[in-house]
Amino acid sequence: MNLSEKVALVTGASRGIGRAIALALARAGADVAVNYAASEEAAQEVVKEIEALGRRALAVKFDVSKGGEVAEGVKKAEEALGPIDILVNNAGITRDTLFLRMKEEDWDRVLEVNLKGAFYCTKAVLQGMLKRRFGRVINMSSVIAFMGNVGQTNYAASKAALVGFTKSLAREVATRGVTVNVVAPGFIETDMTAKIPEKIKEAILAQIPMGRVGTPEEVAEVVVFLASPGASYITGQVFHVNGGLYM
Ligand code: NAD
Repeated sequence: MNLSEKVALVTGASRGIGRAIALALARAGADVAVNYAASEEAAQEVVKEIEALGRRALAVKFDVSKGGEVAEGVKKAEEALGPIDILVNNAGITRDTLFLRMKEEDWDRVLEVNLKGAFYCTKAVLQGMLKRRFGRVINMSSVIAFMGNVGQTNYAASKAALVGFTKSLAREVATRGVTVNVVAPGFIETDMTAKIPEKIKEAILAQIPMGRVGTPEEVAEVVVFLASPGASYITGQVFHVNGGLYM
């Protein structure tokens, strides 16, 4: 398998897209640190599934927006599994509301988790990747970064910022065997999209050329590819996984 001997850290991996990514990386041969913020039980389930695939896994609790917790959690993961070769900055939240009604704390929290979380997690693993001359950083953006969306100024800003972060870091580390890329999903069936009212869902569906929502597994496949040796000459890029919603 093409990711054997590799260790991955996936943030927000107890459910949804992160869970699918953790499992897909394990199927490709990687050992996986399964980060979670609150739901220990769900994270342990993912660990069990990975172990059933014959890979090693560890559930690590930390809030990606807290630098101290991230550093501690990464240390624990590396002690148990070995140095992190693949980081997937997947953890993300929404706090949707029209801009005029948006509270400062809604703005700050979304930026703290979605953007600063990627800063802290990347900080915690990058030095080791550079030393070992191998690393894959994959940041989860969103189609909303490219299209915008009513009620999501905070979310769109955080996800667009990840693109600038990715391209700049990709340039800084390109000669050292570390690639940095973005995956930008469209409308994917998870808890995050489950709260969208049916009427709005139908309106979005009407705009998707493939006429259906995507699955977490369809996003995970692209992440596995970017982590694999086959993607060795790809850095600073955005991979859209959206059924044609944005071209
Ligand atoms: P989800 O809500 O099901 O999962 C998000 C995960 O992140 C959860 O496990 C949650 O506990 C975790 N998380 C939240 N805050 C955290 C924190 N502070 N520290 C650690 N973990 C935290 O959502 P999802 O749909 O699986 O989304 C995964 C990623 O994909 C997110 O970054 C999201 O913005 C992005 N995305 C999702 C869609 C979609 O349609 N579902 C589309 C585009 C982008």
